[in-house]
Amino acid sequence: MNYKECYEWGKEKLEDAGVKDAKLDARLLLESVCHTTTGDLLAHGDADVSKEQEAAYADRLLRRARHIPLQHITGVQEFMGLEFLVNGKVLIPRQDTEILVEEVMRHLTDQSRILDVCTGSGCILFSLLHYSNGCTGVGVDLSPDALAVAEQNRDRLGVEGVELIQSDLFEAVEGKFDFIISNPPYIASGQIKELMEEVRLHEPVMALDGGEDGLVFYRKILEKGPAYLKRGGGMFLEIGYDQGEAVRELMERAGFCEVEVEQDYAGLDRVIHGFWYG
Ligand code: GLN
Repeated sequence: MNYKECYEWGKEKLEDAGVKDAKLDARLLLESVCHTTTGDLLAHGDADVSKEQEAAYADRLLRRARHIPLQHITGVQEFMGLEFLVNGKVLIPRQDTEILVEEVMRHLTDQSRILDVCTGSGCILFSLLHYSNGCTGVGVDLSPDALAVAEQNRDRLGVEGVELIQSDLFEAVEGKFDFIISNPPYIASGQIKELMEEVRLHEPVMALDGGEDGLVFYRKILEKGPAYLKRGGGMFLEIGYDQGEAVRELMERAGFCEVEVEQDYAGLDRVIHGFWYG
């Protein structure tokens, strides 16, 4: 098969398997095997695909047809223009989470000290450190397997001034920070079974499950967080589209000031932040 025929074959296989973005995923998998880019399909559709590449493509496609997430097959996900390694032990970085990073960047000053709670792949913390000057940070996660992925990402991206610690939220954290940021698990336990197969069966439940009402981690982070914030420090959290009011109330009750909810590009509540004056 030539390049375009491979693509057409793959697209059909994924469509038949009910994969949501069949066209996109067929193209991306072909590109990942042939080391090509978007334009190749249009400009070089008649290019030869070697037997080895064809076999590798078929292998990746058939895995995707079994609803294994694309990123678990390619091993990477782009976030804030940087490439992050991912596997089944970390949440795959979401584009929505870039809103959180951008919101923190608006308030960040040089030399800030940042604590990232539930760091997962490290995508939030490492992006912030990559795009700022002289900031340092600590990333914590309960899962040693997630921390192993974060360590690899830190080394690959050449991020400096960061410490990764295994900790149940703040348990092993010391010192005070200018910012505490987190994209905690926030899906209500009962909703997990409604998620698409890719997420439900392949992403770590501990990175998704926010307890009975989805708010368990916000309560804990907002209760314990102030002890780890400098005076005037900021708390920036990602939230679910329907959690703005509930988390605002928790945040105000915990004593945070200037609490604001920000929307994502779909106009849905996505980030909340407030400041601590103690
Ligand atoms: N901080 C990571 C992310 O946003 C992981 C979040 C999590 O595990 N809930 O992708």
